[in-house]
Amino acid sequence: MTGILRLTPDDALAMLLEGNQRFVVRTAGHVAGTEVLGSIEFGVSVLGCPLVVVLGHESCGAIAAACAAADGGSTPAGFVRDVVERVMPSVLAARAAGHDQGEQILHEHIRHSAGLLLERSRVLAERVADGRLALVGLSYRLADGSARLVAAHGLSRAAV
Ligand SMILES: [Zn+2]
Repeated sequence: MTGILRLTPDDALAMLLEGNQRFVVRTAGHVAGTEVLGSIEFGVSVLGCPLVVVLGHESCGAIAAACAAADGGSTPAGFVRDVVERVMPSVLAARAAGHDQGEQILHEHIRHSAGLLLERSRVLAERVADGRLALVGLSYRLADGSARLVAAHGLSRAAV
């Protein structure tokens, strides 16, 4: 891909919804360990994906499990524990800010996940910085299939 990408939030949603080719990396609670980061970097740097979407959804079981663990419930066994531990910082940050509604925690976790990708991946951060890549966080509502933009990096500034 060459040239400067000027995506508006609407463009980003349209790209996601209109049958463009997608390279999907799916994890519980959209947590991102090293294999996930590597897979996303593969999609971007090898396949040339111009848009990374962190797609969270309401009634997320991984977030519910992290909330339960934060409330002193049992911590899951096995590698589910790893998922819960990666979601936990978002739960704690949301609650520390006085947000304990499910949607507020979800949005915090989407923003946190998007920020973490840029913090940990130089490949992604450089491309966002020089205008070759947009990275957005969307909150998907199961009831009506709508999605709300809750995090945006590298989108056309005038449009956000
Ligand atoms: Zn989920």
